[in-house]
Amino acid sequence: MSLPNNQIWFLTGSQHLYGPEAIEQVGEHSREIAAHLDSVEAIPPNIVYKPVLTTPEEIYTVCRAANTTANCVGVIAWMHTFSPAKNWIAGLSALQKPLLHLHTQYNRDIPWSEIDMDFMNLNQAAHGDREFGFMMSRLRLRRKVVVGHWRAAAVQAQVAVWARAAASWSATQRIKVARFGDNMRHVAVTEGDKVAAQAQFGYSVNGYGLGDLADVVNQASDAEIDALTAEYAASYHMSADLRKGGERHASIREAARIELGLGAFLREGGFDAFTTTFENLHGLAQLPGLAVQRLMAAGYGFGAEGDWKTAALLRSLKVMAQGLPGGTSFMEDYTYHFAPGRQAVLGAHMLEVCPSIAADQPALEMHPLGIGGKADPARLVFDTAAGEALNASLVDMGDRFRMIVNTVDCIEPEQPLPSLPVARALWQPHPNLSVGAAAWITAGGAHHTVFSQSLSTEHLYDFCEMAGVEYVQIDKNTELRAFKDALRWNEAAWKLGV
Ligand code: MN
Repeated sequence: MSLPNNQIWFLTGSQHLYGPEAIEQVGEHSREIAAHLDSVEAIPPNIVYKPVLTTPEEIYTVCRAANTTANCVGVIAWMHTFSPAKNWIAGLSALQKPLLHLHTQYNRDIPWSEIDMDFMNLNQAAHGDREFGFMMSRLRLRRKVVVGHWRAAAVQAQVAVWARAAASWSATQRIKVARFGDNMRHVAVTEGDKVAAQAQFGYSVNGYGLGDLADVVNQASDAEIDALTAEYAASYHMSADLRKGGERHASIREAARIELGLGAFLREGGFDAFTTTFENLHGLAQLPGLAVQRLMAAGYGFGAEGDWKTAALLRSLKVMAQGLPGGTSFMEDYTYHFAPGRQAVLGAHMLEVCPSIAADQPALEMHPLGIGGKADPARLVFDTAAGEALNASLVDMGDRFRMIVNTVDCIEPEQPLPSLPVARALWQPHPNLSVGAAAWITAGGAHHTVFSQSLSTEHLYDFCEMAGVEYVQIDKNTELRAFKDALRWNEAAWKLGV
């Protein structure tokens, strides 16, 4: 998951009309801008300067090279001068990497006392970029347009968001999801077309028998289990009966065995994400709870009950969020607090919430599970920190995928929850629970989500633009009737293919 190994190519358009000196000046300016953006820590990929482009052949060649350069995750284009956009038709038509149009200019201020026509001819992105914009619109290209001076923090922040989305989009196309067992019986929203998903997102989803996993779990050695249980003891609050020498320590060792086996299976198979289902645990002593939580914290995507869409989405968003403050987890809307004026959602799962979102050091506990018919599973129990977050859900609408995103405020529980033996988060959806949940349900959003404290709606919007996926947002400004209209318009737009 190394974002800094990725490259974003910085392409500058011009033409020969201005003479070689002007082109040289354009190149110097462009190199300086690319180097500066490369030095901005908030933009993890390397920004790579490419020589100024003046002909259709050069443009086509560099776009094709971007396509076939594995670690090139996107291109930034800027027209320092006026670059006739017919030059860009072949290249832009061939380009398969995400595109950001940086509408900037080298100088921030107009040099009032010195400005002359030479300066005007050199610094004319104001109209050169409009010519370029027309061509991208004429070709119906999805792209992000960022406007402002290249040293401005707001401009760099928008580039940084897009760069993270681009790196994630590149990684998403190589995600391998391992499914242990099938979908939870009769559940609809966790189902979907895996072939369509591979065509749309590039990731592959394949099933494995539980016996295959159990074989690897049974291979874990006593020495490995000793080391891992010692790591648990050092990392989490644990009661004496679960610690070494305690009467229930054997169950903790069983949980460690499952983590070792699951981790080995995923590593050896080159998987990035996985699903389990409590309805099929053949050969495993416990539902994998602690193992799933710790593997999520290590960067794996996960979906419960066979939910491969959420598993892949969690992996995509973990790649996107790496290095940012806060955590990103599998989540489920579980139960409601309907107290007037304090309405909130209690999110949790049977066990599988990622400790990256924990407010404090988690407790490792062992409790019975009402369903599944297996031994008491180990799990990490914690509260989630208060603050801004979002929930994202990906559903299969039959003719397309739809992402639904709801911004939320995480809040502290009004009282402790001493009898609830799972990790949990409490949040107020925007604009409020009544409108937020009504909009979510109207859009067909799932009960399973990816919950993130690290990412903004802009990250997810940019990602959906790259993936060509419908994006709907529920936020502080959402009004239910306008939201329903937008869903209808999207339905028509997607049917028309626009
Ligand atoms: Mn579930």
